[in-house]
Amino acid sequence: MMNRKVIIIGSGPAGLTAAIYAARANLKPLVFEGNQPGGQLTITTDVENYPGFPKGIMGPALMDLFREQAKRFGAECFFKHVTKVDFNDRPYKVWVGDELFTSDSVIISTGASARMLGLDSEKELMGYGVSACATCDGFFFQNKKVLIVGGGDSAMEEAIFLTKFASEVWVVHRRDELRASKIMQDRAKSNPKIHFHWNSVIEDILGTRESGVTGVILKDTKTGSTRKEPCEGVFLAIGHSPNTALFEGILEMDSKGYILTGNKSTVTSIPGIFACGDVQDHVYRQAITAAGSGCMAAIDAERFLENR
Ligand code: NAP
Repeated sequence: MMNRKVIIIGSGPAGLTAAIYAARANLKPLVFEGNQPGGQLTITTDVENYPGFPKGIMGPALMDLFREQAKRFGAECFFKHVTKVDFNDRPYKVWVGDELFTSDSVIISTGASARMLGLDSEKELMGYGVSACATCDGFFFQNKKVLIVGGGDSAMEEAIFLTKFASEVWVVHRRDELRASKIMQDRAKSNPKIHFHWNSVIEDILGTRESGVTGVILKDTKTGSTRKEPCEGVFLAIGHSPNTALFEGILEMDSKGYILTGNKSTVTSIPGIFACGDVQDHVYRQAITAAGSGCMAAIDAERFLENR
């Protein structure tokens, strides 16, 4: 296998934008798309805030366009999941199972994944009434009462989406004030199918794989009292964690596991290794900011390779 100039790990807006720029710089990037090709946008529906699409565009369609554009300039995209890396010496080593790839630089754009509550019942019933993706699973909850956990933009967006199917959608939020933007709050609060359980957390999810979810135990965060609340579905929208397990002990990270990058650059703690998108950004986390940082990573990699 020939040594590469650039390997890109991850294929969301950050990774595929890095691929477009690296390909146009004639670096012939190799992209490992991972377990979720196209990244988180492929499990959303309408993207309304990506500039250039005034009528909105479906998330998966947008990512197909990114990929098509990268390939047009010579990026190679493999539907493979990287299992191990060794960044001790150059060329850097990247494995997919037993298959070894080497590269002079690596761009990490492995993104972030949905956070879980950490309950055994949540694990047991995942896919049996518990879901972390309303847009994937909402359809299965026609005329059912569902709960959605979280108070951010995702929770509001998914609550609104779920009203297309569910009879009632109850937002369970641990405080009495939402984190979501004003416009999303207004949309959710004015939807007649959406209701709120304020100052509440789910202490347990009831049901079996046979019966599906039958309810939850809700705990009042102010008084500590608990009560049973019947429902047939539980959707989680409590944020995300960075996909950085591969790089633990190798790259410098913050306390939450996000890769640390240089001030105004995508440089990591190892020369020639760059990080872009949600894997290094817990603040903005937008497709457009991820894409912007992917562009930065490709330019940083190009300069690194030139100056070597
Ligand atoms: P987020 O903004 O981090 O919100 C997570 C929510 O979950 C918060 O309300 C948080 O409560 C709650 N939460 C976290 N851990 C919890 C736990 N263990 N138990 C109960 N509740 C918990 O995440 P997000 O909503 O996924 O949004 C991420 C980013 O994407 C944001 O920047 C957002 O603006 C953006 N986004 C934008 C759009 C849009 O513009 N249309 C759509 C989706 C997402 P607290 O509030 O108490 O911390």
